[in-house]
Amino acid sequence: MPRLERCRPFQGQGRGFFLFVPPTFFLYTDSNLQFTGPAVIISFMQGRKILIIEDEEDLVDLLRFNLEAQGYEVAAAYTGEEGLAMAQQEKPDVLLLDIMLPGMDGLDVCRRLKRSPATADISIIMVTAKGEESDIVEGLELGADDYVTKPFSLKVLFARIQAVLRRREGDDSPERLIRGPVMVDPVKFEVTVSGRPVTLTPTEFRILHLLVRKPGWTFTRNQIMQHVHGENHAATARSVDVQIVGLRRKLGEAGALIETIRGIGYRFRAAEDE
Ligand code: CA
Repeated sequence: MPRLERCRPFQGQGRGFFLFVPPTFFLYTDSNLQFTGPAVIISFMQGRKILIIEDEEDLVDLLRFNLEAQGYEVAAAYTGEEGLAMAQQEKPDVLLLDIMLPGMDGLDVCRRLKRSPATADISIIMVTAKGEESDIVEGLELGADDYVTKPFSLKVLFARIQAVLRRREGDDSPERLIRGPVMVDPVKFEVTVSGRPVTLTPTEFRILHLLVRKPGWTFTRNQIMQHVHGENHAATARSVDVQIVGLRRKLGEAGALIETIRGIGYRFRAAEDE
């Protein structure tokens, strides 16, 4: 596994800061972690607050160092209780929330933040270990925005954070939505792929519209069913899979933009993931 090699001083401190990463550490940089257009990214990120709730101190240090280098304001807490209090006080834009925490776990923190109007709009990215699909499903259904699974690369994490911030900017427009070759017009009930009209059933249309409204956002099968049929419908998760198969086929090559997230649900690929 490649090791974190780049060390740079904290800005304004005037002395070097070296980050030691043990070889077993699961975060790593890769050759793609060269920030293209740093000036643009940093101006976009300037002043955005990120709160990390994570009990692994080495991971907190690594994330803090790299996020601050990107221009974010970073705060951190090591327990659920402390993090919840900090989130209520600081109102961060984005919360990186470890699920497995001693004491109050991440799902509980998520539930409490989403339940309160004062904190419901904090974007939450869950940080989970492999094999925690049921936790991910529960977290998404509680209102978490996204998740990353350990081990993750910083590049992936930054892309998720940017996607979440972009959604906060109001990318959720009722007008026609254009995502790569796919155009969805919810007013005229029209879909085109590379300009070619595609005929969908009302259910397929509603699923596609749900997914393209929030590219990169993973929806559980339950969430998709509720969106399409309302709360009390007897449709099964399997029926969502069947709808997705039909939808992908009708979208042709663009059908691959609808990604299956195994054990969790579906999402429309975000431009950041290209
Ligand atoms: Ca943990």
